[in-house]
Amino acid sequence: MSKPILRTEGLRAYYQLDVLGKRKEVKAVHDVNLTILEDEVYGIAGESGCGKSTLLRALYGAIEPPLRLVGGKVLYETEERTLDVAELTRDERRRLRWDFISYVPQGSMSVLNPVIKIKNTYRDFLESHVGGPTKSQVFAMAKEHLHEIGLPPSVLESFPHQLSGGMRQRVTIALAAILHPRIIVADEPTTALDVVVQRGVVQLLKSIQTRFRNTVVMVTHDMGVHANVADRIGIMYAGRLVEEAPTDVIFKSPRHPYTRHLIDSLPQFGDRSRRESVPGAPPDLSKVPSGCPFHPRCASAMDICREKAPGYTQLGDGHRAACWLVGDKADEEDT
Ligand code: SF4
Repeated sequence: MSKPILRTEGLRAYYQLDVLGKRKEVKAVHDVNLTILEDEVYGIAGESGCGKSTLLRALYGAIEPPLRLVGGKVLYETEERTLDVAELTRDERRRLRWDFISYVPQGSMSVLNPVIKIKNTYRDFLESHVGGPTKSQVFAMAKEHLHEIGLPPSVLESFPHQLSGGMRQRVTIALAAILHPRIIVADEPTTALDVVVQRGVVQLLKSIQTRFRNTVVMVTHDMGVHANVADRIGIMYAGRLVEEAPTDVIFKSPRHPYTRHLIDSLPQFGDRSRRESVPGAPPDLSKVPSGCPFHPRCASAMDICREKAPGYTQLGDGHRAACWLVGDKADEEDT
């Protein structure tokens, strides 16, 4: 049984905004309890605006205004001890980045400087994080790493604009993996790529995870990508984790109506019928509906759904769901 490497306890991260003199609180991550294990690929799924990218930033320890940690904890299980991320100094957090936890942001161009060659991005990165090696040692290290994970070392001589979107994304992922971090968190790594290129990016993530035996936490709204790469999936809705299970269990027997919609909207091989997306629109996270936040969109909603938020029901095999259809426990936060 793998050990936990990253945990959250009752995590609440809200954007606190000032809109025309009025305070607005966007509850992007609300009371999330998560345990991520060593050597697994954990997928976080949900529609745009459900808080999944904010959760990923919180896991990486990048909670900066206007985002605030309102409650709960993010805990890293290092070899030596459990670290509460909120209690680390800026310097301690910087030291953990890239060799304990690294981040692949949305859009490779936010990592790759468009006016310098890839090799110089690698050099700047390695010089600031490793310190000590000479320029030629740095380039040798970058070449060896790219070769090791199956990318052509010749990309080092290119400017970002000379590479395809897919190759830029792979170079960004390679950079995140260069110091063999124990955890890589990746935010929508396949967005804006066509299906064939997506497959290459997913294969690279998977092969890095297998080769270096690290943990990958990946956010994407694309359930098809999760089906191919994740060991377990957490489904987010309105800043909450509403269902979690091993990937095969989620796809074979989803229990939360929202998860069922996400799966039903996936195209099926050989089925040409039109797939229906989730009815309605996700809620504004500054005005989350009372009770179960999915109730305005749920065809099975009952009176209790409008009044009280459901708590988790454990369904066995690491499967849990927060829905009144599967259990009668209320959410403690809500009672
Ligand atoms: Fe639907 Fe009620 Fe379940 Fe929410 S708790 S998903 S509204 S049935």
